[in-house]
Amino acid sequence: MKLEIAIVGAGHAGVEAAFALAAQGARVTLFSDEPCLPYFRPRLIAVAFGQAEPGAIAIKPQKAYDEVGIELRREAATAVDVQARTVNGRAFEGVILATGSRAFVPPFRGERGRARPLWTLADAEALRGLCAPGKALTVIGGGVLGLEAALRAAEAGLRVTLVEAAPALLGGCLGGDEGALRGALEAKGIALRVGVGVAAVEAGAVALEDGSVVADDVLLCSAGARPNGALAGAEGFIRTRPDLSLAPGVYAAGDPAQPTAERPVCQVRRAQLMGQLAARNLLAGLAGRPTEAWAEPALPLNLIAPGASVFVRGEVRGEGLEARALGGEGACEARTVFCRAGRPVGLRWVNTRKELAEWEKRLA
Ligand SMILES: Cc1cc2nc3c(=O)[nH]c(=O)nc-3n(C[C@H](O)[C@H](O)[C@H](O)COP(=O)(O)OP(=O)(O)OC[C@H]3O[C@@H](n4cnc5c(N)ncnc54)[C@H](O)[C@@H]3O)c2cc1C
Repeated sequence: MKLEIAIVGAGHAGVEAAFALAAQGARVTLFSDEPCLPYFRPRLIAVAFGQAEPGAIAIKPQKAYDEVGIELRREAATAVDVQARTVNGRAFEGVILATGSRAFVPPFRGERGRARPLWTLADAEALRGLCAPGKALTVIGGGVLGLEAALRAAEAGLRVTLVEAAPALLGGCLGGDEGALRGALEAKGIALRVGVGVAAVEAGAVALEDGSVVADDVLLCSAGARPNGALAGAEGFIRTRPDLSLAPGVYAAGDPAQPTAERPVCQVRRAQLMGQLAARNLLAGLAGRPTEAWAEPALPLNLIAPGASVFVRGEVRGEGLEARALGGEGACEARTVFCRAGRPVGLRWVNTRKELAEWEKRLA
């Protein structure tokens, strides 16, 4: 008899867990509250600006699910009972919660409804319908997502302004190399308003806290995400045990599963690794074998977009680090190696990949 497993949420964690379980002979029902095939979420930015087609970003084609017997069920899980292991009233031997995150739009004063998120395929398609060459786009948020959106929009011929309330882009991780990134953004025609917050969203404009006003046709808000709880509509992290379990036969994986991280972590690779571990532990637990603890991986930061790139590896901030600038070609390139006791422990490359792979090996 095959084990019957339910997975709630068909994002990167859920799909990874589903295929890992199916490969071990389980019968998997994958609940998805989105109407499309599960897709590679970072590609939504390219979809929004017409640089990728919605149908081309699926993680796997339908036949891949069919071949291994995964039932992709386009039904929101609205009732999950962790103790009884039921989803929408149906009993399973195991359940994995992989409900992901949703976009966070701050409570702006004024016409907040104009601030559009970019978190789902529906969001991307809505933006795509509004954006056209020559239109003015304001992007709120200077993180990886906001920067890639600004660069892709500029590439698509929009007139872009990027607003970031913090004094630096990318959470300040570029330090002295930020000028190289800013130079590349400005070279793409992106107007930067860094260190000034949004006072209010108005019709056709954003009023900033320094009294200035940025007129626009479209407003994209990229101000972070919030984890979805166990059920659609629920807020909050899913606090698991170290092995990602919540109860016997019930595990969580992906963005909301936070056994150790103190702040939200939204990364595809992390979600995939968690999906794999949740699947392994679920099978081990049901068979009475020991489970493994989740170890938070040190993941790289990559920004790869038309006109700019940033690669950050390892430790680039903290006490006792010695920064060695390797330089780059021109003012928009920078390469910095961070050493501790003479050993390289971190890398920061801006707008170049020169010798990155070689230095990554030395870091390992
Ligand atoms: C535009 C964009 C760009 C990004 N770029 C990068 C990047 O470059 N690199 C990177 O590492 N990360 C990036 N991320 C973050 C990354 O996509 C997420 O960390 C990752 O998708 C998390 O995977 P997940 O499986 O936990 O959740 P998700 O991919 O969010 O999937 C969860 C799924 O569960 C569904 N769901 C929720 N509740 C229910 C329910 N009750 N019933 C049924 N289904 C439900 C959701 O609708 C969703 O489809 C980006 C995110 C976005 C939005």
